[in-house]
Amino acid sequence: MSPASPPCPIVLPHAVSRLRAERQSRSTRPFLARGGPKGERCEGCRLRPSHCICPLHPTQATHAGVCLLMHDAEPLKPSNTGWLIADVVAETYAFGWSRTQEDPALTALLNDPQWQPYVVFPEEFVQPASRVVRTVTTVSDTKLFDGTLHMAPPPAASLAPRPLFILLDATWPEARKMFRKSPRLDGFPVLSLHPEQISRYQLRRSKRDDHFCTAEVAALCLDLAGDQRAAQTLEAYLDIYTHHYLQAKHQLPPDWNSHAHQQLAALQASGNDSDVKSYQNNS
Ligand SMILES: [Zn+2]
Repeated sequence: MSPASPPCPIVLPHAVSRLRAERQSRSTRPFLARGGPKGERCEGCRLRPSHCICPLHPTQATHAGVCLLMHDAEPLKPSNTGWLIADVVAETYAFGWSRTQEDPALTALLNDPQWQPYVVFPEEFVQPASRVVRTVTTVSDTKLFDGTLHMAPPPAASLAPRPLFILLDATWPEARKMFRKSPRLDGFPVLSLHPEQISRYQLRRSKRDDHFCTAEVAALCLDLAGDQRAAQTLEAYLDIYTHHYLQAKHQLPPDWNSHAHQQLAALQASGNDSDVKSYQNNS
């Protein structure tokens, strides 16, 4: 992506694009993705303008938040999927990982009482094992207002903090190192995805291997927190991104009517419907 690329007229900057801009400003030479310079790319989605998906951009309000701790060059990679999380989940935060330097904004986020941070990591690498949890507070635990007037005070559970999923966005060896060398994360529970949840996901998505990209891990976490529509939206958007990315790479046009495109359109239509219904119920 050359610094001369014009800003995208459709998609506003988000946590990951801001982190990329900040990281680019510190670079002494441009980051070259594998395969060398690729020509012009859209600033909003990092795809070639002919394959731009910005008009499909599906931001959602969610119960849970996502905090990406990104390894040094990760925000610069056109294939980074943390970017897609920030596209979909309105409350996505992104920070460059550092072993030694404290980022005051990250410290403030982790100390914010509205959030319960969970570090997402496989349990076999966690010591002591008592840090490992399998569940998080869900939408129904913390819902304060459901469109009806409560005469009694809300139940105590409604004051439970919302889950903030801390994802280490890096290659696997880097992520292991980050997990070991992040003392500030030591006090938080570690959410380890349940093998049953993983195999259900693999079956549903016809996925053969158990390597998950960051956006897939985020979708599993959102699902666990009760943010099902955001989880499905993120999955469909990831599929669309991957399709457009590969088609551009092979100099083929994208299929704008693929299964994932139809799925995203259906999710957005159902979201609009439910928004209209809840508005009608409240008015
Ligand atoms: Zn675009």
